[in-house]
Order: sequence, then C-alpha cells, then structure tokens
Amino acid sequence: MASTSTASLNQSVTGYIHNVTPLRHGVKRQYFEGVLQQRHKVCKVVVFKVELHSKFLKIEKDRCPVQLNNVVVQPSRREDGMDILFTHQSKWCCLTSIDYPYNPTIMVTIQDQTISQILQIDMEYHRVNITAKLIQRESEGHAFLQDDVLLEKAVYTIADTTGIMELTVWGEQNLQLDSWFYITNVSLRMFRGTKFLSTTKDTKFTPTTCTDPTFPLQPTTSEQVTGNIIGAKVTIIYICPLKHKLHNMALSCTRVLCDKCDIFYRTDAITLHTHARLKITTTTSDEIKSVNIENHVLRATIQIPKNATTDTIMDSILDLPTMNITIHNHYITHLAYPEKSHTDTPQPNSPLVHFSPPTQPPAPSEDLAELDLFMVESPLDTQPKVNQPTPPSPTSIADTPK
Ligand SMILES: [Zn+2]
Repeated sequence: MASTSTASLNQSVTGYIHNVTPLRHGVKRQYFEGVLQQRHKVCKVVVFKVELHSKFLKIEKDRCPVQLNNVVVQPSRREDGMDILFTHQSKWCCLTSIDYPYNPTIMVTIQDQTISQILQIDMEYHRVNITAKLIQRESEGHAFLQDDVLLEKAVYTIADTTGIMELTVWGEQNLQLDSWFYITNVSLRMFRGTKFLSTTKDTKFTPTTCTDPTFPLQPTTSEQVTGNIIGAKVTIIYICPLKHKLHNMALSCTRVLCDKCDIFYRTDAITLHTHARLKITTTTSDEIKSVNIENHVLRATIQIPKNATTDTIMDSILDLPTMNITIHNHYITHLAYPEKSHTDTPQPNSPLVHFSPPTQPPAPSEDLAELDLFMVESPLDTQPKVNQPTPPSPTSIADTPK
C-alpha cells in the first residue's frame, strides 16, 4: 500500500498539532514541520506556507484541534505511513472539539533510548538519541533527492547492551566500525514490519568511549551462495561534480551541460554511476533469485571504462564465471571469484578509469529531512525504482492549477 508513489491532492485531515520545528531552509524554499496526532496515528506535516509558523506554534501551545484542508497526503517510506504536505493552496481552521483527547505523551523533546526501548516504541514517526556501537557495514547504495542530487547511503548493524538494529546512514560519513557513537536525532522507521533507524539532517555522530559488551550478535543476516548470473538489466547514471543527475549526456561531446549547476563540465569531470538488477541461479536451490547490485560492488568486480554503455557492462556481468556471492536484503554486497580463478577473467580491483571531481563536492543537500518526503527508493526495498517517475514535488503540486 505504502509502496505506491501516488499522492492524494485536496485532502482534509483533522487532529492535534505537536512538535512544530523552527523554520528550516530547504533546497529551494523555507518550510517547517510538525506532527499531526490523528485518531489512530501520528503523521508528519510539512508546512511550506512559512507565514503560518507563529500560528502553528500557538495552535500547538493551545492544544487546539485543527482541520487542515486542501493538503497533499503522500506515502512516506514507512509502512502504511503517510506524510501531509501543507502547500500554498492549503487552508487551516481551529475546530471547537474532536471526539478524541489530546495526547500529551507525544514527545516534544528527543530522548536518549536504548535499542530495546526503541524496539518497543509503537509510534509511526519518532526521533531518538542512542548510544551504540557500529558492528557491521551491511550494504551501500544511493538514492536521489527531489532535486536530482545523488545521495549515498549505507546500512549498518548497530548494537548496544540491550539489542541490535539496523541504521541507514545518508550521505557520506567516515564512520569507524567497532566504535561507539552517541547518535542524536535518528528517526525510527518501519518497513514491512521491521523497525530500523535512519539518520536525519539533524543527526550527529559523536564518538564515545564505552567498553560495555554489546548484545550478542545473531547469525549474520547476509546470505552466502555460489551462483551464476544468468540475467542482468543495467542502468547508467551520469553525475556532475556536484552530484546532480545529468540528462542528455552525450559521450561523444567534450563538454556536457548540468541544468542544475547551469554550467558546462568537461566530460572527464563527469562520474559514471551504475547499478543493475540481476537474476542468479545458485548451486544450492532451483530457485532463480532476483537481486540488485550497486555501483561500488560492480566496480570492484568488473572493469567499467569511461565509455562504458549498458550493453558493455551487461556483457561483462553475464561473462562472469560461477561466483561466490554475498547477499544482504536482496542486494549483492560482495562478489568474489572462486578460489582458483580463470586466468582469462578480469581480476577484481583492476585499475579502473576513475573520474575524480576537481574539488571535493559539498554535501549534496543540507536538508536530509526532505528525504523522508521525496526519496524515490526505499532503503530496504527489493526493486530499484530508477525507471519510475519521481513523486511530485511540492512545487509541482503547488504550482499545478486545480
Ligand atoms: Zn550540477
């Protein structure tokens, strides 16, 4: 249900407003957020009509029930969760009463919690602080923000003395495994019944000294198989030095225009980012597995020259011999040649053509909070959705005349 990317326009919702944030600066405009306590659920509300900020603060303080009209309700990445967008077309009014009470326990301040406490929280939208150790880096991947900016992600297994969870870390972070961190402002998420944590734009990692033993790690959730790749569908994305997705990249040209930067880049300043959907057969079962593979794992296995096309990459993938394959959540996290590799196969980690951007690009967006609204791809989703249209952004919704 929540996996569709359709937004419902012109909706009316009622409830109590909690947790109104300060004004935030998005990529293109200001906004603030709050939480709407409805009868049976709690939804995030994103308000783009910033002139209402003091009104919303007062509504929250007065605990006044409200009706929000003409809002956009769209699925968030949480299971069955919806986010509410209060656009420039939306209206609000105070109600005299609604037939359920204000819930004062919806937390205004973010509290320090242990993993076992977090696993007991039954709130759809909830932020916590946590002290935990990074145990394993499970997988890496990427997603695009609404502005076509590529954002890296990595999934870690973290543990404290009470339990184990997965944490999705957005953006490039240099985090040391086997280290303890005090991690603030992480968001509790749910996907297909499994709870996990996700960093937000406010998340900070502070190393801490802690020697407590961690909760015993269960057998790894990664699966190791020996198998053959029998099918592949490769996608190539070209990225400008500031990590924008490029449209109309022509390899034959010496320069390429980035619409977002509004500048022409030398073709050799452009990064080729690739990922693929694969079908594999394994030696242990008759089942044909569907898995995904991301850029960094592909590059560690096959040569991807700068003039690579989807066809040449697919050929290289389908030419691979029987491989040792590690799979985590339907993503291949490691591909290794069998012990005695064929001499005619390309060697892993062979020199690759690498396009280093001339300068270190800045963080793609200061605004990871918007990820919650605009992420095309779900962190644990099994199918890449690169070919699907991006959900409508508030701009396009707000600017579309009724
Ligand atoms: Zn750009």
